Amino acid sequence: MISTGIQTAAYLFAGILFILSLGGLSSQESAKRGVLYGIIGMAIAIASVVLGAEVKGHIYIIIALSIASVIGIIVASKVEMTAMPQLVAILHSFVGLAAVLVGFGSYLDPHAAELTGAERAIHLVEVFAGVFIGAITFTGSVIAWGKLEGRIMSKALAYKGRHSVNITLVIISIVLGILFVKSPGTEALIELSIMTGIALFIGVMLVMAIGGADMPVVVSMLNSYSGWAAAAAGFMLGNDLLIVTGALVGSSGAILSIIMCEAMNRKFLSVIFGGFGNSSSSGSTKIEGEVTSASHIEVANMLKEARSVVIVPGYGMAVAKAQYPIYEMVQKLKAAGKEVRFGIHPVAGRLPGHMNVLLAEASVPYDIVLEMDEINDDLPETDLVMVIGANDIVNPSALEDEGSPIYGMPVIEVWRAKKVIVMKRSMAAGYAGIENPLFYKENTDMLYGDAKASVDELNKEL
Ligand code: NDP
Repeated sequence: MISTGIQTAAYLFAGILFILSLGGLSSQESAKRGVLYGIIGMAIAIASVVLGAEVKGHIYIIIALSIASVIGIIVASKVEMTAMPQLVAILHSFVGLAAVLVGFGSYLDPHAAELTGAERAIHLVEVFAGVFIGAITFTGSVIAWGKLEGRIMSKALAYKGRHSVNITLVIISIVLGILFVKSPGTEALIELSIMTGIALFIGVMLVMAIGGADMPVVVSMLNSYSGWAAAAAGFMLGNDLLIVTGALVGSSGAILSIIMCEAMNRKFLSVIFGGFGNSSSSGSTKIEGEVTSASHIEVANMLKEARSVVIVPGYGMAVAKAQYPIYEMVQKLKAAGKEVRFGIHPVAGRLPGHMNVLLAEASVPYDIVLEMDEINDDLPETDLVMVIGANDIVNPSALEDEGSPIYGMPVIEVWRAKKVIVMKRSMAAGYAGIENPLFYKENTDMLYGDAKASVDELNKEL
């Protein structure tokens, strides 16, 4: 057992480690260190809570922690990089569910019944708000998981008048909240339960209404919500560390959402309320031109002739695990004196920074990995662009077709290069579910096949 003083000091230390962890995660070079700080901080946090004087029944806690740790280790070590976003989404849902359970638990806690006056009112507001945020986070994250896992269609399911329905539901929740705070004892369990049902429904509807291309913002937004849900649980439990940690996650998630919105030229509120990416159309302009394809030998010859090459990877590279042979190809091309660089779109793949992680995994040096803004201006002078398993992030409709659901989103303007090769398995659409006029452009050739198999083939030819 540790004293309250030692516990407070441990909380403070863990809080500092979490801040250092976030700082570390802001650049690739320091990311590993950041993760390590996070792990140490979390270990200290858990130990200082479990060893705290107010905790009873250690044996149960240790059994629960051991079972959960084993499950966590198995799940995390087995998960494929491509399934990481789904895992993150489902973990957010646990935070939301935990906040709901903590909320009900603290409402029914006999000690809480001893609170009076303003103290009681504040506690009840914390419970109500915590359960509300937690329930939205829970179902919203489950739907996001379903969309990312491909169990629920990624296209937006939006119905007319949904904004009015959502606003009405929020107003009903506020009225229930007032009744809840005014009720004595634990008599308002019914109000709390009805509001929970409403919040669960709002969570479903909010995420269902958001289109595939806007999902990155949803994932980071749910990350933020899970932080606020944890902070709310911290208030309910009177645990300062949980409040600090929740606020760190909540605010960093909110900042990430804003950054993602800026990268996609979206208004934050419009994305949250399903205003964008929810058109059921797949673009209003009829695509003109013919699709042409090239063989592996032809593409290998183009690579041999090109002086400058830009590689634009997307979700398909992650699926195919093509990053290793791609780096092998880059080394061959560089050895032949060519300029080879990568162009990374901020929402390529299914996770913020997804492509950077994969390329780092394959030991691609950071200095040849450029952001979208850095590479776009150089494209007209580029001899050959290799689009590997990418689709939405190189779709010209985003700039040219006002009727397109992704209109306004900045993209990597690969078609401005002298020649473009698109490597994918078929003419299938990307995550946003829309057609891509890039495939029909005169300077574009398709190279069909699995990205890894195709790059292996190119490496042989090179
Ligand atoms: P897309 O999903 O638009 O396209 C990926 C393409 O890869 C598909 O068209 C598919 O075509 C191809 N592909 C799949 N498997 C293979 C394979 N084994 N070999 C070769 N090609 C393959 O991905 P992008 O990266 O271009 O765009 C990301 C999209 O995901 C955006 O809409 C973004 O908004 C959304 N998103 C991003 C998140 C993030 O945080 N980054 C989170 C959630 C959503 P085919 O089947 O013909 O092979």
